[in-house]
Parts: sequence; structure tokens; C-alpha cells
Amino acid sequence: MSNDNQNPTTTTSTTTEKKTSPFLTESLPEGIAQGQQQTLGQTANEAAGSIPKYNLPRGAKTNNLGETTHFGYKTINTEEKAQKVAEVFHSVASKYDLMNDLMSFGIHRLWKRYAINLSGVRRGQQVLDIAGGTGDLAKVFSREVGETGHVVLSDINESMLNVGRDRLLDAGCSNVDFVLANAETLEPFADNSFDLVTISFGLRNVTDKDAALQSMFRVLKPGGRLLILEFSKPVFEPFSKLYDLYSFTALPIMGKIIANDSESYRYLAESIRMHPDQGTLKSMMQNAGFQNCDYHNLTGGIVAVHRGFKL
Ligand code: SAM
Repeated sequence: MSNDNQNPTTTTSTTTEKKTSPFLTESLPEGIAQGQQQTLGQTANEAAGSIPKYNLPRGAKTNNLGETTHFGYKTINTEEKAQKVAEVFHSVASKYDLMNDLMSFGIHRLWKRYAINLSGVRRGQQVLDIAGGTGDLAKVFSREVGETGHVVLSDINESMLNVGRDRLLDAGCSNVDFVLANAETLEPFADNSFDLVTISFGLRNVTDKDAALQSMFRVLKPGGRLLILEFSKPVFEPFSKLYDLYSFTALPIMGKIIANDSESYRYLAESIRMHPDQGTLKSMMQNAGFQNCDYHNLTGGIVAVHRGFKL
């Protein structure tokens, strides 16, 4: 897979040493205008005006989806979704961790801790964290698997992955590789190569979720497990109303103040409501081949951890 072509108009500059990855033939890209050639006399904005704005790692070409899909509450052409999601995460990357703490009152840390405990990760294991962004899970897995193990922090989005890479290298995580990949295909990864695959707050952004689940199944070793941490459907109706009020009013306002981007946080609230509920996601995992699937509701079902095994 070529990783040299995904570029936000502003890239996170990094002073950290480049790492060589067994999955990459070249280092992660930085700062080169990609997707479009800027010609003489043309402004960067003009050059960037054409669609697609970001060249992303290749997605799946399946017949799982129709011509249109949802982006939050909007209906858009299916092929546009990855671009729109890319815009959201390029926009929020630098403020992502701060916003997570503020929006969830720090509770996302407990949700992630719960998922990590459920993962059963052990020393010497191979772990893939998909849509791993700024690396909250990968950082802990790096410690848990130890020197004999290996973690891959993977994301479709260069800006998010750059933040994660800088953070983990600063923390001395020497057993982690950083790989741009689309969850729908997981192209850089061979079949049967990981003991544990995780995706935390990533799946709802993926256009073709069935293709992504099949790819996760493919890269897991027999006996391996998948953990999906994701927003879900609150189980208690009055709580649900309060939660709606908070999500659709407070989140966009906080997004505006902190990240100067209310639209991305409106998308966040809408995408949560459009995501399959607990039972539907469990069935989708079973259809992809996972066995012994179960889920655990957290904070009254605001979030759920789904688990499934490749046996
Ligand atoms: N896992 C991190 C966490 O729990 O904090 C980051 C979650 S963030 C809400 C969602 C991430 O999903 C973003 O980094 C985004 O770039 C990534 N993403 C969206 N679509 C993706 C796709 N098709 N393949 C891989 N990553 C994707």
C-alpha cells in the first residue's frame, strides 16, 4: 500500500526520529502537498479545491452498500463519506485529547480501561489497534505486551496518527509501529497475524462496517479476539433524553470554543445516533465469522464493548 499520498493542508510537524515498520516500505509522509499538484500562479486553496481533498488508504469495493449512505444525519454519496470523515479528524486532531477529556468528564479513560481489562492481553502478544488515533489504547498495550510483544497503532488519518506517533515515541514505546490503513481493507496486514484486534470509537466512522469486520476477522490469528469499544444505545429512556440534550447542544458549543469547529462535534453527536445498536452490532460480528460474541454496556449503554473470537 502506498502511504505517500494522504495529506491534510496542514500537517503536524514532528521532530521525532522516524521508525521503520515491517508494514511500511517508507516512512510516514509529512508536509508535501498530496492529492493535487499545485501549478504556478495557483493558490494552495485553489489547488486543494478539487475533490478528493485527501487521498486515503484504499477502502473496500463491496456490494454491501448502496449509492448513498449517511454522514451523521445527512445523506451523501457513499464514496464521499471517507473524505468527509477525514475532514473531521484532520480538523480536530490537535485538540482531540483535550476535547475527549472535557466532553466525557474524563470518563472515556474508564471506558478504555474496562476494554483493556476485557482484552486479556498478555506479554509477547501481537496487537493491532485500528482507528487508534492518538494512541490511548496502544500506549497501554505497548506496556502490557512488553519487549517480546508488538503493537501496531493504525489509522486512516495522517493527522491523528502523527499525534499518536509523537505521543507514544515521547513515552518511550519502542515496540509500536504506526501504519496508515483503512479499516475496511486493512491492506498492509497479512492474514492470521494478530492475537488481539481493537477498535475504539472508530467503527461508527467507517463507511462499510461489514467489510471492516471481515478484514478484522482476516487479520486475527485463530484463537484471537476482537474488541470494539463504541458509543451505543442508552438502555434507560429518560436518561437517553438528557443525553440527547447534552450531545446536541453542549458538544457543538464546546467544539466551537475549544477546537473552533462546531460542525465536527455536531457530526460526532449525529454519528453516535446513526451507529448500530448493541444487538445489531453483535449480529454483524457474527455474520463476519466471529464466535462467542457478547457485549458489555457501560454508563447505561452510552458506550458498549463488544467482544468476539476467531475460533
Ligand atoms: N481510537 C481513538 C480513541 O479511542 O480515542 C481515536 C478514535 S477517533 C473518535 C476515530 C478515529 O477513527 C479517527 O482517528 C479516524 O481517523 C479513524 N477512522 C475513521 N475512519 C476510518 C477508517 N475507515 N479506517 C481507519 N480509521 C478510521
